[in-house]
Amino acid sequence: MAADESAVRVTIKGTVQGVGFRPYVYRLAEKYQLRGSITNTSGGVVIRVRGAVGRLESFLTALPKECPPLVSISSMTCEEDGEPVPVTGFAILPSIDHEVGRPIFPPDIALCAACRHELHDPADRRYRYPFINCTNCGPRFSIVRSLPYDRHRTTMAKFSLCPSCSAEYHDPADRRFHAEPVACAACGPRLSWHDQTGGVCASVDPLAAAAAALRAGKVVAIKGLGGFHLAVDATSSAAVNRLRERKRRPHKPLAVMAGNVDLIRLHCRLSPEEEKVLTGPRAPIVLLERLSESSLAPEVAPGIDDIGCMLPYTPLHELLFSHAKAPEILVMTSGNLSDEPICRSKEEAFDRLSGLADGFLVHDREIVLAIDDSVGVCAAGSFRLFRRARGYVPGPISLPFSMPPVLAVGAELKSTFCLAGQREAVLSQHLGDLEDPRTESFFRSCYDHFKNLLGFEPRLVACDLHPDYRSTRFARSLELPVVEVQHHHAHAAAVMVEHKLKDPTLAVILDGTGYHPDGTIWGGEVLRVDYLSCERVGHLEPIFLPGGDRAVQEPWRLAAALLFQQRGAGYEDDGGWLPVNWKMIDSQRRRLVTRMMVRKINSPLTSSCGRLFDGVAALIGGRHHVTCEGQAAMELESLARRAGKGVPGLESSGRYPVSLAVRDTGRVIQLDGLLAGIVEDCRKGVYATDIAWEFHDWLVRSLSENVKLAAAETGIDTVVFSGGCLQNRLLLAGCAECCRITGLKPFLPRRIPANDGGISLGQAAIAGARLVAAEKSSVPYA
Ligand SMILES: [Zn+2]
Ligand SMILES: [Zn+2]
Repeated sequence: MAADESAVRVTIKGTVQGVGFRPYVYRLAEKYQLRGSITNTSGGVVIRVRGAVGRLESFLTALPKECPPLVSISSMTCEEDGEPVPVTGFAILPSIDHEVGRPIFPPDIALCAACRHELHDPADRRYRYPFINCTNCGPRFSIVRSLPYDRHRTTMAKFSLCPSCSAEYHDPADRRFHAEPVACAACGPRLSWHDQTGGVCASVDPLAAAAAALRAGKVVAIKGLGGFHLAVDATSSAAVNRLRERKRRPHKPLAVMAGNVDLIRLHCRLSPEEEKVLTGPRAPIVLLERLSESSLAPEVAPGIDDIGCMLPYTPLHELLFSHAKAPEILVMTSGNLSDEPICRSKEEAFDRLSGLADGFLVHDREIVLAIDDSVGVCAAGSFRLFRRARGYVPGPISLPFSMPPVLAVGAELKSTFCLAGQREAVLSQHLGDLEDPRTESFFRSCYDHFKNLLGFEPRLVACDLHPDYRSTRFARSLELPVVEVQHHHAHAAAVMVEHKLKDPTLAVILDGTGYHPDGTIWGGEVLRVDYLSCERVGHLEPIFLPGGDRAVQEPWRLAAALLFQQRGAGYEDDGGWLPVNWKMIDSQRRRLVTRMMVRKINSPLTSSCGRLFDGVAALIGGRHHVTCEGQAAMELESLARRAGKGVPGLESSGRYPVSLAVRDTGRVIQLDGLLAGIVEDCRKGVYATDIAWEFHDWLVRSLSENVKLAAAETGIDTVVFSGGCLQNRLLLAGCAECCRITGLKPFLPRRIPANDGGISLGQAAIAGARLVAAEKSSVPYA
C-alpha cells in the first residue's frame, strides 16, 4: 500500500439489500478511483475499500448522502482494514451466507417512474411487459425464500435469465444491475386468463379478457404482488353489490384503485401531502374524503365519507388500467372470503374464490408470503398507518434500548407479531383476525418463515394478559418463558418506541376492549407508563356491557347501557324523552337487556371508548347492528365531520359539560352531563351531525382536562396517544391540539398502527425491558 493510502472496512446496516445499494457503491468507488469490494452478508453490507486518504474520506462522506431512494441506513461503522484486498478495480462479490448477525430484507416496492416509462414505450424491449422491474422497484419481501437476498433464493430462481437480461443484471452501470427479479417477455413470468372454474383460456389475451369482464360488471380475481384481489367496476352499484353478497361482507368499506391520480381527484379531495403518499414508492391505500359529486357507487363505503384509494403499483395493474375496455376505477379488495387470509397461489384461489370470481387473471411468479395492501390516512400533520403491510414490512424499527431476542405475539384482532433483539425490531405484516382458524395457521406459518429467514431464536415470548386469545395460547405452546403484558400498556409502549421515548410518560389510550385482571374491560384510559410499569391515573366512567361480546355487534345494547346509567332501571318508564328510533327495537329484547343489567348477569363493566362511541351512535339514530368492527364509530365520525365545525376542543361551545370525579381508580370522566345533553338534544330534534360533533368536543375536553391535572400531579409533560379509536381524525387532531395548547408534548402513532396492529411491538419492548431489568437486579421478569 502506498504511503498516502489507507484502507477501511465499512459495515452498513438498514435497508441496504435489494434496493440498488451495491451498484450505487460501485459507481461511487469508481468516481473516487478507489479499489476494493462490496458484499451482502447476513450481518449487513460489508464494503472494503482502499485508496488515497483524501479521496477515501470524500467517498465515506458522500456514501450516506447520495443513496438511491429506497436505501435506509440505520448504522454505518468504519474500522481500519489490515487484510489485503484486490489491488485493481472495485468488485461486487457474491453474498456470504451463514454469517452471524441480523439480516435485513427489503419491502415490495411500487413500479418506479423509469420502469413505467419503458412499459409504455413501444421502442423499449419491455414494452407492455407486465413484470418489468429494476433495482428501484418490484417484488422483494413477497418472493424471498431465504436470505441473503439473491435471485437464486427467490421465487425468480426458476426463470433463467435470457442473454439480454443477463447482460443488464451483470452490468454495474445498468439500472438493473443485480435487480434480483429482473425479467422480460422472453425469459420471465407470464400472464394467463382462467374462467370461473379455473380452466385456462389459452386463446385469449389475458388483459383484454380481464378488462372486458370488468367492463361487463363481473368480479375478477387478480393475482398481484402479495396475493389476490377481487376487482369490480367501482362505479357500478350492481357490480359492487354482487361482490359484497358473494364475499359476505355487507358493510365493511372497500378500497378502490384508479388508473391515475387525476382520476382519484374526480372522486376525492386530495391534498399535496396525500398525493405524495399515494404516488410514493410504498403506494399504500390512503383514506380520502369523498366528494359529493363522485360517481363511485355508494355501496363502496356505505355511511362513511372516506374512501380508501390507491394507484396501480405493479406493471400488471398499470397495463390493466391502460386497456381501452377497462373501467377507470375499480374496487380492489383482498381476495378472500370475509376474514380469511388473502389467497396467494392460483390453486388456492381456484379453490377458495370459486363462486366469488367470474374469472381469474393470474401469473406464474410464485408468492412466498402473502401480504395485504397497507392502509393509512393523513391526519394531524402526518401520514399514519392503520394497516402496516406491503411497502413497509419488513422495514426494521429501531428500539430505544438494547434487549435480548424477544418474540411478541400481539392481540387477537388485526394481528401482527414482532421479533425484537439488540436495538431493532421487525414487525410482521398485518395478518388478520385470529378468530378465523385459517388466520391462525397463517400466523404460525408466517412466524416460521420470519424465524427461519432471520435465524431468530427468542429467549422469551410476550403476549396479552387475555387468557383466551389464540395468540396467548400460541405463546404458551412454545415452551419458552412467557411474559404477559396488559393490553393498553402495550399500546402506550408501541408509541414510546416509535418516538424513542425513554422516560416515564402519560398515555391516553382510546380503544375497543382490552382485558384487565381487575375484572372490568378497559379502553378509555389515562395512564402513567414506562417500559416496566403502568399505573392508571384516570378513565372513562364504566358502563355495563350487556351480553358481553355480543354487545360489540349490537350497539343498541350500549345505548341501553347509557340510558340505564343515566336514569336507572326505570329508564323506559318515562317514554317521552326516549330517542325516536329506540322503539324500533323489539320490546322484549329491550326488557331482557335491562334485566341483565339490573341483575348484573353477563354484563361486565367497561370503560371502553369504542363502546361509548357505539352507544352514542345508536342513541342518536345510528344503526343498531353492525357487521364489521368499528362501523358505528366510523359512521359517528363521518356525521361529526359533516357538521363542519372544525377541530373539537378548539372551537368549543362547551355544550355538554365536563365533569371529573376523584375515585380510588383515578380521576373518572363522568358521563352524566354528556348523556343528559344528548338525550335532551335528541328530544329537541337537534341535527345528529351537531350532536355527533359536540360529543367529540366533549370527549376531547374531558380527556384534556384529565391529562392536564395528571401532568400537574406527576410533573410529566409528555403524552402518548393510542388505541383503535384514534383512527378517528377528529379525535386525533383534537387531542393533539388541546394537549399542545396546555403546554404538553403530544406523541401520536405514525408508522405503527394506533389499533391492535401495533400491540406486538409494545409487548416486545415491555418484555425486553423487564428481562434487562431482571438480569441487572435478579428479580423475576415474568
Ligand atoms: Zn423500476
Ligand atoms: Zn429476459
